[in-house]
Amino acid sequence: MANSLTLGTGAQMPLVGLGTWKSSPGQVTEAVKAAILAGYRHVDGASLYENETEVGDGVHAMMDQGVVKREDLFIVSKLWNTFHERHLVRGACEKTLSDLRLDYLDLYLMHSPMGFKPGDTLFPFDADGQAIPDNSNFLDTWEEMEKLVEDGLVKAIGISNFNREQIEAILNKPGLKYKPVNNQIECHPYLTQEKLIGFCQSKGITVTAYSPLGSPDRPWAKPGDPTLLDDPKVKAIADKYKKTPAQVLIRMHVERNVAVLPKSINPGRIKENIQVFDFNLSKEDMDTLLSFNRNWRVLPFEWANKHKDYPLNAEY
Ligand code: NDP
Repeated sequence: MANSLTLGTGAQMPLVGLGTWKSSPGQVTEAVKAAILAGYRHVDGASLYENETEVGDGVHAMMDQGVVKREDLFIVSKLWNTFHERHLVRGACEKTLSDLRLDYLDLYLMHSPMGFKPGDTLFPFDADGQAIPDNSNFLDTWEEMEKLVEDGLVKAIGISNFNREQIEAILNKPGLKYKPVNNQIECHPYLTQEKLIGFCQSKGITVTAYSPLGSPDRPWAKPGDPTLLDDPKVKAIADKYKKTPAQVLIRMHVERNVAVLPKSINPGRIKENIQVFDFNLSKEDMDTLLSFNRNWRVLPFEWANKHKDYPLNAEY
């Protein structure tokens, strides 16, 4: 398949996928339909986004209309932090499959290395505003995820928000059955991730970039925060190619063999965001975009920075 990455399993993962975080249940079905009609074959979801039933509605509408078959699609979901304990992993995956009304996922990611206290709330916090850990360790969680592959619930498993040392811990785990095929991490010109991407790719682990547009709809955005889509230096590069800033911000990952997940609920922008396969960014312009790095994060997870498995204290 063109415009895709080959996973360690041999499967193809399309380079551009539709992001669905913050897409409301009332909007995401139409967004998924618009995306599939525009040529997307990769949809990124998570139980945390609380819209998987409606994502599934969009997928099924397109399959029912004969636009795509299940095997044409690459559907991703993620195991949330409050489901890391061994006895919770399978049920969490089954819930996602049942919400999506699918028999299997193409890729199931551990949403983060940090396990949180299981229970009714997805974000259990203590009195200091820190996430309350569970009793899990991510190597045990990984073993439970391996069973999901063996039992056919998922075609491949991967990780998200893992740093180098945490990835090495999985790769060096005694009795490892399946290597992670993918690490999904924040990446854009203000957080260019050269070292982590280089490390993952050297180990045969593909990388997917999240928040590629700087996530302007993140709930905690403040006036004065950096705004990638309005950065005049990004705009100048876009003008040169007669493309939009968003298209440059998306194409940047394609140039690095990194998959990318622009989120949109707007049909025009959904179309725009996949029209990135008719131009190349020059080496010089790529170097310029990478030079904007300032280690700025949409998601610093500062409310979990005392967790034993907090991933973002390491250099990479
Ligand atoms: P993005 O960086 O994709 O930005 C989304 C925002 O950009 C929305 O406000 C959207 O508005 C706007 N937008 C989209 N396209 C354009 C365009 N062409 N021009 C101008 N504005 C545009 O944010 P996300 O943080 O949502 O990241 C993308 C996806 O990555 C998520 O949705 C999720 O699937 C995944 N993710 C994974 C994480 C993880 O921990 N693994 C963490 C964060 C994200 P509108 O919708 O109105 O078009």
